[in-house]
Amino acid sequence: MHELAICQALIDQVEQIALEQRAQQVLSIHLGIGPLSGVEARLLQQAFFVARAGGVAAGAELVIDSLPVQVSCDHCGQTTDALPARLLCGACGNWRTRLVSGDEMQLQHIELIRQTAAEPGESETSTKQQHERVNQAS
Ligand SMILES: [Zn+2]
Repeated sequence: MHELAICQALIDQVEQIALEQRAQQVLSIHLGIGPLSGVEARLLQQAFFVARAGGVAAGAELVIDSLPVQVSCDHCGQTTDALPARLLCGACGNWRTRLVSGDEMQLQHIELIRQTAAEPGESETSTKQQHERVNQAS
């Protein structure tokens, strides 16, 4: 199953960050998915329930944001929003465009509870910004 492999790679990445941040628990994982990525948000959510079990992300919530489709025009050079099924330049209508975004899956940030050695029982919530591309097994 495609989505399960993606989820496992995602959780590996999140666990790595959690380890570096000395996190006790991951609260939420925010993921951006472009409509042209071939990843289905609904299937990804289902796979996430399976993949998260047992690890530091076991109680985490997966939040999926839809990323915009944008094209860069070869004719007028503008970057504009486009429809997934119609990659035309929004400025001049030219069809000779290059996809700028919309086919990616991106780990945006995660929320985690960090261990504080000084005061046990106290926990701190922090957000770690992460702008790495997640490798897709497509
Ligand atoms: Zn154009």
